[in-house]
Amino acid sequence: MGITIAIDGYSSCGKSTLAKALANRLGYRYIDTGAMYRAVCWHAVSQGFFKGMVLNINALIAALPQIDIEFKYNAVRNGSEVYLNGQNIEANIRTLEISNLVTQVSKLPEVRRKMVALQRDMGKQKAIVMDGRDIGSHVFPNAELKIFMQADMQVRAQRRLQEHQQKGENVSLQDIIDNLKYRDQEDMNRSENPLIKTADAFILDNTFLTREAQLDLILNELHKRQLM
Ligand code: C5P
Repeated sequence: MGITIAIDGYSSCGKSTLAKALANRLGYRYIDTGAMYRAVCWHAVSQGFFKGMVLNINALIAALPQIDIEFKYNAVRNGSEVYLNGQNIEANIRTLEISNLVTQVSKLPEVRRKMVALQRDMGKQKAIVMDGRDIGSHVFPNAELKIFMQADMQVRAQRRLQEHQQKGENVSLQDIIDNLKYRDQEDMNRSENPLIKTADAFILDNTFLTREAQLDLILNELHKRQLM
């Protein structure tokens, strides 16, 4: 049947890179829960619920029943992509604009309850790697393996800068650092399912680790715990 692997941690610590590699190696499904909160945020932006940085919370909450989020596999990219009401919005949700607005959406209890219910449903069959902020602490507190990721701020920001540059987006390193610090604070301090390190999580600091080394470390941990 497989197990449940929960990966949490600060913004831009390489959670999804590790999660994808693990899921590929194990033949598991990978779910990027950050993409779900980004999708809700993008819906709010495209419906005009944001005036500048100010969110019309009531309008978003009223629209929640009409928001349908799913993931579909794209064979060309060898990865899953997020769909909002049938539309592929993968390219729309990774911008700095969405990164700067998303915590206003992700802190709303109504939004979280809907996303958590969807995530639990997606994980019912197990054999899944899910990454986010509250996966080991709240969505799957009984996950067989919980990983908490952290890394040096400069390293995190440089990685994110490279991603933006590869897409031809012009953002500054300082803007990225400001965003990562802001999101970490917001994610740790919200009242509903904040980002926390659970006592049973395997702490992975990948500041000096290659992608391959991280994957090896976790595969080794799975062997040690006789989970594979
Ligand atoms: O992982 P990513 O950076 O794409 O997540 C975007 C935002 O979604 C985070 O900053 C956080 O506010 C929110 N999030 C969350 N809970 C999760 C995953 C993401 O609150 N499980």
